[in-house]
Amino acid sequence: MNEQVLQPKIKQLREVLGNIQQNYSPAAFANSFGAEDMVLTDIIARYYPEIGIFTLDTGRLPQETYDLMQKVKERYSVPIHTYFPDFSSVENYVTQYGPNGFYESVDLRKRCCYIRKVEPLKRALAGKRAWITGMRREQSTTREELKLSVFDDVHGIHKFNPLCDWSEKDVWNYIKQHNVPYNVLHDRFYPSIGCAPCTRAITPGEDVRSGRWWWENPDSKECGLHTRNKI
Ligand code: SF4
Repeated sequence: MNEQVLQPKIKQLREVLGNIQQNYSPAAFANSFGAEDMVLTDIIARYYPEIGIFTLDTGRLPQETYDLMQKVKERYSVPIHTYFPDFSSVENYVTQYGPNGFYESVDLRKRCCYIRKVEPLKRALAGKRAWITGMRREQSTTREELKLSVFDDVHGIHKFNPLCDWSEKDVWNYIKQHNVPYNVLHDRFYPSIGCAPCTRAITPGEDVRSGRWWWENPDSKECGLHTRNKI
């Protein structure tokens, strides 16, 4: 039964990625090493070498994510371009607001996300024609209207969400069937993993994104990478 559900989804995913490689070059996959991104890493690294892979290292990631990054480097023979935040912006922020200033207000949280994620993303996408994410509709209230593709007017390029209609079960079935490495935090009730100080475990039944910025209202819970297009 699982196989019957998954195979058509894998086939469709490969068609989308093949189309992106052929018609939207240069394209890049934004990899944050979550479970969904590991599905895409596995398929892109094995079959679509012309699609570049990059990650944003905020400097505040959990050790378990760095361990996974190392594992991915050893298992797949594709480079993962790593972008760091501008060091002087981080220095100024931490000097002014402290290393954990993001807990004080949504504004300070968003400023930190801007420095550590949004600005590096702009650099990562410069010169690209398309970018690919592992977002799924089911993940949160902010992602209910997620489409397979949309023109991202913020970055002026096409944006593809080829796992938009995958369920959490599909993702984990793929990972298990293909023996794909994943973040061990997922086994400790962290369905969505970001920076260490802004991510915590959830209890069964809670929204999968509820462990991210848990002190904020659900409607504000995006980091600025995906908000403008509501996708
Ligand atoms: Fe800063 Fe937290 Fe955003 Fe990471 S998730 S960039 S630590 S506010």
